[in-house]
Amino acid sequence: MSERTLSEIISCLAGYDPEALPVVQAQQIIREFITPIKETEIINLRDALGRVLAEDIISPINVPAHDNAAMDGYALRAADLQPGTVTMRVVGAVLAGQKYDEKIRFGECVQIMTGAVMPPDCDTVIPQELVDDSAQNSIRFQSELIQQGDNRRFMGEDLAIGKEALSKGTVLRPAHLGLIASLGMAEIPVRRKLRVAFFSTGDELRSPGESLDEGSVYDSNRYTLYGMLTRLGCELIDMDVVPDNPNDLENAFRHACENADVVITSGGVSVGAADYTKKVMARLGDMHFWKIGMRPGRPMAFGRVQSNGKSALLFGLPGNPVAVMVTFYFFARDALLYMMGANTEPLPRIRVKSTSPIRKKTGRTEYQRGLLSRNKEGQLEVSITGAQGSGILSSMAQANCMIVLHHDQAGIQGGDMVDVVLFEGLV
Ligand code: AMP
Ligand code: MG
Repeated sequence: MSERTLSEIISCLAGYDPEALPVVQAQQIIREFITPIKETEIINLRDALGRVLAEDIISPINVPAHDNAAMDGYALRAADLQPGTVTMRVVGAVLAGQKYDEKIRFGECVQIMTGAVMPPDCDTVIPQELVDDSAQNSIRFQSELIQQGDNRRFMGEDLAIGKEALSKGTVLRPAHLGLIASLGMAEIPVRRKLRVAFFSTGDELRSPGESLDEGSVYDSNRYTLYGMLTRLGCELIDMDVVPDNPNDLENAFRHACENADVVITSGGVSVGAADYTKKVMARLGDMHFWKIGMRPGRPMAFGRVQSNGKSALLFGLPGNPVAVMVTFYFFARDALLYMMGANTEPLPRIRVKSTSPIRKKTGRTEYQRGLLSRNKEGQLEVSITGAQGSGILSSMAQANCMIVLHHDQAGIQGGDMVDVVLFEGLV
């Protein structure tokens, strides 16, 4: 984590107001406070999906290793071709994995299969479906059908020896696994997984499977957090529900901080009465309590907690179920990826038409649950998925995107363009 305290970072910011902190300023403070974990490990390629590459991969070989055929057909020298109908003698055949070493003479060709090494001097492949091969040991075709170099893959055209094939910080997707395999590497260096401890706070919370007594609610936040953190590729320490009392909370925070890189809690950070969460957080660490200019998700605690010489980053997310998801996606996600050593980029946004008007105040960022679909004309458009209260998870579950209405933006009319962030691919 940063050598600087949160207060030192904040003191460099013009116009810092913890009671009305714009989203972008909160994101900036978080980014300046955190540093990536350093430790790496060597793992099997098969285990590397979703992991963060720890070193650049330099190609140890040319891929492909030889010039080879891109189609089944006949390898020839384009210089031998004359305009019009051409007849060529077939002097041999070469299958994938084989070589044909003999030189060919004028007017000769070699039958070749996709991936087979090009015979010496041959520079072009005429595809099987363009030739008449009804005569024995010869083919006929129209020479206008091909040009020199057609259907030939060059040695090293995919990856050249000594060149960077992948840069460190890449979050490994299926294409990357295939690419690394094509270099013949069975093991690769990755950052160790980020350890994230998480728990819910509140006396009213019951876990699924328990009975629901008067006034209590089921703990849903630990399940959305579990889903989002799992997709992000973190190592999870699920610490259950912690009741609103100072002893239990202190024990939980200490245990979390001694065993994890990051602690994520939900609830107890608003102005509510029975909330000891904030007091315990403040006692254990360098914490700031923000009211962020956003909806949903106004209260959030951020900082670092310490216990017995260990420290961990802490996100104290709000309690309301949709606020938890929104603050996770727009603050924690980027921070965790950065700590994992990943090359992070701002979330991709697309601009689409809103089917209906949306009311909004300037001076805060609003996130609406949206359903992106195609209209009759085949154009993408977005509509809102029902009630937008910060506790209403059903409209979140129906949504496939978030509509982002920016800080300075006012309400919009139906038909106006809006920015949306898609859920799929988010983590
Ligand atoms: P708080 O900020 O702790 O006052 O919580 C705000 C609202 O979110 C309250 O209605 C809580 O009951 C609710 N809430 C807090 N934590 C959870 C949770 N883990 N699952 C579902 N609802 C929660
Ligand atoms: Mg609470």
